[in-house]
Amino acid sequence: MEKNVMKYDCAIVGGGPAGLNAALVLGRAKRTVALLDSGKPRNRIAHESHGYLTRDRIKPGEFRKIAYEEVLYYPSVQHWQDEVVDIARTEDGFSIQLASGESVQARKLLLATGLREELPEIEGLEKFYGKTVFNCPFCDGWENRDRPLAVISSSPHIFHTVKLLYNWSKELYVCTNGKQSLDSEQIEEFKARGIQVFEAAVTKLTGQDGQLEQVHFADGTQISCRGGLIGPELINNSSSFAQSLGLETTEAGGIETSPFGKTTVEGVFAAGDSAYFMPAQLIHAASSGSKAAASILADLVEEEWEAAARN
Ligand SMILES: Cc1cc2nc3c(=O)[nH]c(=O)nc-3n(C[C@H](O)[C@H](O)[C@H](O)COP(=O)(O)OP(=O)(O)OC[C@H]3O[C@@H](n4cnc5c(N)ncnc54)[C@H](O)[C@@H]3O)c2cc1C
Repeated sequence: MEKNVMKYDCAIVGGGPAGLNAALVLGRAKRTVALLDSGKPRNRIAHESHGYLTRDRIKPGEFRKIAYEEVLYYPSVQHWQDEVVDIARTEDGFSIQLASGESVQARKLLLATGLREELPEIEGLEKFYGKTVFNCPFCDGWENRDRPLAVISSSPHIFHTVKLLYNWSKELYVCTNGKQSLDSEQIEEFKARGIQVFEAAVTKLTGQDGQLEQVHFADGTQISCRGGLIGPELINNSSSFAQSLGLETTEAGGIETSPFGKTTVEGVFAAGDSAYFMPAQLIHAASSGSKAAASILADLVEEEWEAAARN
């Protein structure tokens, strides 16, 4: 099959669990799929992945290797390791431009590009993020259970995050990183449960071999801990495509979809973190990719059913 001259049934932008599961379902439905992936999944820096049945505690790279082997078993799925830089609507589909200069034509489009994080500028953070500093209690709460944990976030949602994390550890240090994101009632609620609040800016994290041990503040104080949770800013990798294609987005910044991944624009589907932001987990992403693929197939079948009667 000559990759770049044909029109694919579907182009999938993003080869994380959402895009890969969609490719698997479409490949098994004998559909031609262009799987376009720049190879930077969100959890690539994590030491392990958790909570995906049959794959609990697997290394993210190993998960990805198995997934690609399964998907590329189906010969109608073609893979590009490349970045999509532009998507234009054509008369009967989409023209997708790659950073390498190639372009791919497809009848349907699935956006499954995930999110990227912008971490707060704190010295040393990169040594611990993905090891003992995490961003999702469901993903890494168990590994950090019953330990003294620092929760570093200036988000107004910090109160709810701390409340949830209290399920895994009762010894929590709340660091609002220079912001007054908690009201006095919330601070009192924390105090009543022995949770301390630090409002000074966090300047530095220190520890050994990926294990966070101290949080240092601008006012010279420091606390000892055995791990932490951080609230990064999340950016939708599909936001420029959503804008150029005229897709509606949610208040949180995700792409608005039906439960089966249809966006507000005909022929465009979205799945995974870039569609709904939360709950951001591998299993939800894979499930939404599978549902979007079923929806894409239903549309293709419908179009061909009508055409078959006319021929
Ligand atoms: C540190 C960390 C640890 C985590 N741990 C867990 C865990 O233990 N368990 C769990 O369930 N979840 C975990 N998650 C969340 C999980 O990684 C995400 O929910 C999941 O990866 C979302 O899948 P996705 O397919 O939507 O996006 P992603 O997995 O992020 O995949 C998106 C893909 O699209 C590609 N892409 C983006 N833009 C373009 C473009 N323009 N052109 C081509 N390709 C593009 C990216 O390179 C990437 O390969 C963790 C996240 C982080 C940050």
